[in-house]
Amino acid sequence: MTDQINETRYDVIIAGARCAGASTALLLAREGLRVLVVDPAARGSDTLSTHALMRGAVLQLHRWGVLEGIRSAGTPEIRSTTFHYGDEVITIPIKARDGLDALFAPRRTVLDAALVAAASAAGAEIAHGRAVSGLVTDDRGRVIGARVSGSDRETVTVKADLVIGADGINSRVARLLNVPVTHSVPHATASIYGYWKDLGLEGNHWYYERGAAVGAIPTNGGETCVFASVPPARFEAGRRNGLQDLYSDVLREVSGGLARRVSDSGGPGKLRAFAGVPGFLRQGAGPGWALVGDAGYFRDPLTAHGISDALREAEFLARSVLDGREEALLAYDEGRYERVRGFFEVTDRIASFDWDMDEIKDYHMILAKEMNALIELQRRFGERTTCGFAAAPPTAAAAVGGM
Ligand SMILES: Cc1cc2nc3c(=O)[nH]c(=O)nc-3n(C[C@H](O)[C@H](O)[C@H](O)COP(=O)(O)OP(=O)(O)OC[C@H]3O[C@@H](n4cnc5c(N)ncnc54)[C@H](O)[C@@H]3O)c2cc1C
Repeated sequence: MTDQINETRYDVIIAGARCAGASTALLLAREGLRVLVVDPAARGSDTLSTHALMRGAVLQLHRWGVLEGIRSAGTPEIRSTTFHYGDEVITIPIKARDGLDALFAPRRTVLDAALVAAASAAGAEIAHGRAVSGLVTDDRGRVIGARVSGSDRETVTVKADLVIGADGINSRVARLLNVPVTHSVPHATASIYGYWKDLGLEGNHWYYERGAAVGAIPTNGGETCVFASVPPARFEAGRRNGLQDLYSDVLREVSGGLARRVSDSGGPGKLRAFAGVPGFLRQGAGPGWALVGDAGYFRDPLTAHGISDALREAEFLARSVLDGREEALLAYDEGRYERVRGFFEVTDRIASFDWDMDEIKDYHMILAKEMNALIELQRRFGERTTCGFAAAPPTAAAAVGGM
């Protein structure tokens, strides 16, 4: 279905209506900006992701008032994380802090839909079945709007002071602007995952063995998402004999106990697979445009932090848009690498699979430190408020007119 677009001009157009785009839209719309979000995917559809939220993501959803909807959709509370390093098992309870004592792993049909509903309630116009297919620039190359194409093949031109690409790894907005990659890392992991009922596990479980990793993440509908990750070369060689065999082999190698639970539970409807993409950071903003979420920064999914990054950076971007000065948008761009550098690098070391059990434990200690530093930045955003921010908002025109 193609949703209508009601105006020919907005303050901000956002390409992509999932965790990065819908979050940015909700924050800007709550402060009075006229926001249009377009996405070719159907409203409430699923996407490739094992959807484990780390504390940073849960904190953002709580502050924005979106977490209650996710809880009430029956998303189970996750009260512990258990690490399995070979035969060594370490269970860490989730600490009560910032009004939170649980993690969550909502299906994307629940999370993205809750963010879209909140953005829509705040006044953002969300048009599914429509994609940004081109950009409009002025004679100095500044982006001043977008061409939006519908599944009905109709293309409309919509003007805006800012166009945001929240359109994922293969961002069309980034490609249309030839946005350069500023930082990249060499490693990637491939994942295969499926959903299983009644596994009888408490909390998140992460399992590590040389050359492979597995995870079990409780989600909606009484199901547990179980993923198996390997280097891309093994994935490419193994998938020729069928995903199911490769998946079962990796589960057995890494955790015989989990493999038995999975096989006792009966088969999933379908396994899903991701072949792996090495991490990158693209330039994040320029005249009349910005990128957020995977469009601007992708780190390997093995450290399960893409959604946390998207929700945090949505708020950094929204705050810089509302600041209204050109420098604020540039500061958003420059600050991103400073914020994520440590996390990005240690994720790549983990994604290399070039570690033994002592090394992977050390990497996890670094990861925990980096995650805490990012959460500390979020705490500085302030307490939860009924409208996105504690600070008094500028007017919409001042907010985007100065960039
Ligand atoms: C296998 C796998 C497992 C993962 N597991 C986890 C995990 O456990 N925890 C975690 O935090 N992260 C995980 N991630 C990462 C997480 O899924 C991403 O970081 C997150 O989806 C990024 O959100 P986003 O909104 O930036 O982009 P996306 O979720 O990719 O959404 C982009 C949207 O843009 C739309 N779009 C595309 N082109 C256009 C266009 N031209 N115009 C308008 N819209 C467009 C798309 O239809 C899409 O809906 C995983 C990723 C993978 C691949």
